[in-house]
Amino acid sequence: MPHQEETIDFRALVEYIPDAIIVHDLEGKILYANPAALSLAGESSLEDAMKRSIFNHIPLGIGELGHQAIGKLLEGEAVPPIIAPLFLVHGERIDVEVTIGLLNTGTRPLIWVILRDMTLGKSAEDIIRERVETERALINTPAEIAVLLDDHGVILNINDNYAKILGRSPQDLLGASLWNLLPPDISVYRRNYFDQALRLKQTVRYEEYRDNRWYDCLVNPVFSKEGRVFRVAIAGHDITQRKLAEKQLRESFNTLKKSNEDLELFAHVAAHDLQEPIRTIVVYSQMLLAEHGDKIPPRAEKYLKNIEHAGLRMHHLVSDLRKYSDVRAREIPREQTDLEGVLGFALKNLQTAIQETGASITHDPLPTLPVHRIQIVQVFQNLIENAIKFRKKGVSPVIHISAVPGDDMWQFAVEDNGIGIQHQYYEKIFVLFERLDHRDDYFGTGLGLALCTRIIERHGGHIWVKSEIGQGSTFYFTLPAG
Ligand code: ADP
Repeated sequence: MPHQEETIDFRALVEYIPDAIIVHDLEGKILYANPAALSLAGESSLEDAMKRSIFNHIPLGIGELGHQAIGKLLEGEAVPPIIAPLFLVHGERIDVEVTIGLLNTGTRPLIWVILRDMTLGKSAEDIIRERVETERALINTPAEIAVLLDDHGVILNINDNYAKILGRSPQDLLGASLWNLLPPDISVYRRNYFDQALRLKQTVRYEEYRDNRWYDCLVNPVFSKEGRVFRVAIAGHDITQRKLAEKQLRESFNTLKKSNEDLELFAHVAAHDLQEPIRTIVVYSQMLLAEHGDKIPPRAEKYLKNIEHAGLRMHHLVSDLRKYSDVRAREIPREQTDLEGVLGFALKNLQTAIQETGASITHDPLPTLPVHRIQIVQVFQNLIENAIKFRKKGVSPVIHISAVPGDDMWQFAVEDNGIGIQHQYYEKIFVLFERLDHRDDYFGTGLGLALCTRIIERHGGHIWVKSEIGQGSTFYFTLPAG
């Protein structure tokens, strides 16, 4: 007599399990689905389900991930369970743990799939919290590209624009692996950033150029309650406009730099080459006046004096321009220099003006600093010369030079009791060729302060002025201590 109890119908076991169990062949034809699977799928009977292919079954088909897993199984590799989104027929999304295995029937391999609803066993609070977390990650990224992935790169949510870039509708993309949608080379390095965000648990940022557009991409890990990265939100902002503007700015900067250099070179050459002809004009007009002055009619003599004056003015201009264009090199050779000696030298050059105006000049003890000696002589000389030149009518210049050490800079000041400068001209006067309205009263070229600025800035310092009209001016400048 046969043992009745040995022919147990094992099917009954899987019929009661809350997990969805499906068996299908390699072509995807569904051979079996337990009641949990049928209810998940919204199928009314096993017969109906058996007419369908698992690969394009909505919602059971896990698409690309399924294909990959089957490929691995057939090669004998183990496939660990994965978490994937599953979109129910009425639109609700649940996360399922998918376990896939090979069922060897002896004749042909079959595939079994178990889908476990991850929301089962979780408190409603946890589920809501995770959803909120997830949606917030997406809402927080009002970007041109926004996609929410699980920790394997499966798309859980995607904005319309990114779906459009990928050439599909958002619905088509849900549940697909992002890595399979991108060209292989792009996929590899994107995945790299994604892995970094998972591993480091930190936001990773990169810039990407694609289809003629630049994107600034942020890969943000989203944490589960246990502190695990269970989602990754990627946001890409279109920064093409900014990139173009940067490029234009760089190009204009280079053009400007080039034309500036050309102009500098021109000034340099012109200043050198003009010196000689100007000297000739001045010398010959002086010789004419000296040797033939008695034979020259008064009118012609006046003309000659005008030529001599204009020549002298030109000579000053060209010589200042030459000094200015000589201070071109970015790296200036410096040596420890006693500024007492520097000031002494400058005062010696100004000896005549000092005597003629009765100027009284005092100074604090001055330090020894690493500077370009000749250039700093020029700075002191120009500032003191201006302090004498822009004196009040009938008042002898009183000038004091102070020096105060700071943390890493020394601050110097040249203070006078001259005519002063109106507040609105504080910056203008440092610009090349800028002079104030009294050009007829005071001789000058408008180059002195521009030269001082250039020298001080090349030394790593600053120069500025404070002044009170009718009271006097103080020109400050700083120089590095070491
Ligand atoms: P320049 O002395 O050849 O005119 P600068 O570049 O040295 O050229 O000075 C620019 C202008 O700044 C001067 O024309 C003058 O108007 C003003 N300025 C400079 N130094 C003083 C000063 N100590 N007091 C009053 N005004 C000054």
